[in-house]
Amino acid sequence: MLEIKDLTVRYGIIEALSKVSLGIEEGKLTALLGANGAGKTTLLKTISGLLKPASGEIFFEEKRINNKPADAIVRWGIAHCPEGRKVFPRQTVQENLRLGAFTRKDQDVDQDIESFFQKFPRLGERRDQKAGFLSGGEQQMLVICRALMSRPKLLLLDEPSMGLAPLVVSEVFALIREIKEDGTTVLLVEQNAKMALQVADKGYILETGKIVMEDTGVNLMASDAVQKSYLGG
Ligand code: ATP
Repeated sequence: MLEIKDLTVRYGIIEALSKVSLGIEEGKLTALLGANGAGKTTLLKTISGLLKPASGEIFFEEKRINNKPADAIVRWGIAHCPEGRKVFPRQTVQENLRLGAFTRKDQDVDQDIESFFQKFPRLGERRDQKAGFLSGGEQQMLVICRALMSRPKLLLLDEPSMGLAPLVVSEVFALIREIKEDGTTVLLVEQNAKMALQVADKGYILETGKIVMEDTGVNLMASDAVQKSYLGG
């Protein structure tokens, strides 16, 4: 579904990604793991058109999407859920969800919002409150639901568990599992390697801008190198 070939991205003289190649299969959850500063966020931003690569190519459903505008990429079916729970803090919960549907022209937007409120009653109860007043966990749920409002084929999730209490992390991962079961393809960037590999069909390890390992989630979980570097083993 998504093919990345020899992607290099620079910030001035800093090379954040060096000839990265990877593939994402339709209907699967692919995890991208790596330490701070490895280049994970840079990769997601480049896929969603927020950064322009120095070289390399990105194909989505066989269409070349690098150097295309970010809004066109959303229209083609890629939604980016950024790290740091970036809700629109002064907009209400409901308005945040509606903004996620900015590319849609169908009549089902209200219905989709209601179905998220049914699934997450805490969001429903706070529908008219400003999103900035929600708890960290509620904000994370909201940004994921906002990204889903574009009805994406591919969802890019950046560090959804960051800074959340363990119970809330479990809730977030239950939602990620559900998204996958509903048939949406997911690229998940995570520092919580254990949780990520438990849901991942496939995983890639990124180290200082280079892919150093790729395998199934199960094999990565069992690998000595991954155990030592990412699973505290
Ligand atoms: P984290 O988990 O800390 O977000 P990451 O794996 O997502 O890490 P990136 O944020 O993609 O890593 O950063 C990759 C490299 O690019 C790092 O060396 C970082 O310092 C650098 N970098 C990121 N953003 C910028 C920027 N706007 N200007 C300059 N350098 C940047």
